Amino acid sequence: MINRNKNFKNLAAGYLFPEIGKRRKAFAASNPGAQIISLGIGNTTEPLTPHIVEAMKNYVDSLGTKEGYCGYQDDSAGFTELRERIAKVLYNNVVSPSEVFVSDGAKCDVGRLQQLFGSDVRVAVQDPAYPVYVDGSVMVGAAGKKPATSKGYREITYMPCLPENNFFPDLSVVKKNSLIYFCSPNNPTGAVATKTQLEKLVNYARENSCIILFDAAYSAFIRDSSLPKTIYEIKGAKECAIEINSFSKPAGFTGVRLGWTVVPEELKFQDGTKVQTAWARITNTFFNGASIIAQMGGYAALDDIGLSEMKGLIDYYLENASIIREALESENFKAMGVKVYSGGNAPYVWAQFPGKDSWEVFDAILSQCHVVTTPGVGFGPSGESFIRFSSFGHRESVEEACKRLKNFKL
Ligand SMILES: *Cc1c(COP(=O)(O)O)cnc(C)c1O
Repeated sequence: MINRNKNFKNLAAGYLFPEIGKRRKAFAASNPGAQIISLGIGNTTEPLTPHIVEAMKNYVDSLGTKEGYCGYQDDSAGFTELRERIAKVLYNNVVSPSEVFVSDGAKCDVGRLQQLFGSDVRVAVQDPAYPVYVDGSVMVGAAGKKPATSKGYREITYMPCLPENNFFPDLSVVKKNSLIYFCSPNNPTGAVATKTQLEKLVNYARENSCIILFDAAYSAFIRDSSLPKTIYEIKGAKECAIEINSFSKPAGFTGVRLGWTVVPEELKFQDGTKVQTAWARITNTFFNGASIIAQMGGYAALDDIGLSEMKGLIDYYLENASIIREALESENFKAMGVKVYSGGNAPYVWAQFPGKDSWEVFDAILSQCHVVTTPGVGFGPSGESFIRFSSFGHRESVEEACKRLKNFKL
């Protein structure tokens, strides 16, 4: 038989979420009748909003007519009207429509983006981070030939983001010519980089010939107007940053599938060629465009009614986050020395259980409260002793989970 891609043997055991699922299943099997609530996986739970549903329904109807039918789009980067609306509404035209590439989601785009740089690129990630950045880098061979240790992959640069540094990393550890993955608002920590911090990041990238892959999937959760919602609010970012984003979290499109990537005209490789040209080549080769039905939904999401519906949806999850935060600040958690981090601009609450292992806390919460969380160490070595609580859930489940958490002891 033919050999497996040799990089696969270096993947650290399993992806985080299957392991959580396994433990949940095992617990359920030995505790029949337990009403398990998940504050674990970052999956949306609330229905699509009416205006967006109507736009998609109407478009489906028109697809059933001779005049309205549409097959492959002319350009895999998406409908011009949608690209224009994204550029105008979300970027105030700081980016142009031709720099916006509509996709079937941010995760898929991360995978395709890694092909831009191949196996020779140096990779730097925030630690902890969304697992896709590291696992994807391993699969394309950019993480070196050696398997991971408990400290991570030797050839990936980890940038610890901890309470001690206000979750903004010491950039001096990043080598020249690195691809820097940066996510703000952050999954899992919920931290949002300030304008000053992003200026530091952009300046560092420019001075050291790095490219930033900025994941802004949670930008719509930012409520503090002084915090930047896109990397392009920073001067010079167009020369050094690609931004990925998604309708998944703000509009509940996790199943519908729609995202976009901004690749600025100005961004160049070492040899002077445009990154945008290579990106168009990749997407035109492997991708035939996002679902046109999803695109109509996204288009509706960005008009006045759509924006106000999305705001309502996000407010709901942010309220859940503040309910969770309150529960984690109750006396029993204080007595355990638990520290809670949640700034109100992200759907995640990040809590530290000093001196404990993440998986040990995960198992204890599952067995005592029947609540599924996410162990911080699954996001990287610096996540050890932390737990991520997700606010994606129905209000009544979140309230019930919080009631149970108020009796939790370690
Ligand atoms: C959920 C999430 C995404 C979104 O991925 P989609 O493929 O668009 O659903 C991207 N980045 C981060 C950090 C996420 O948490």
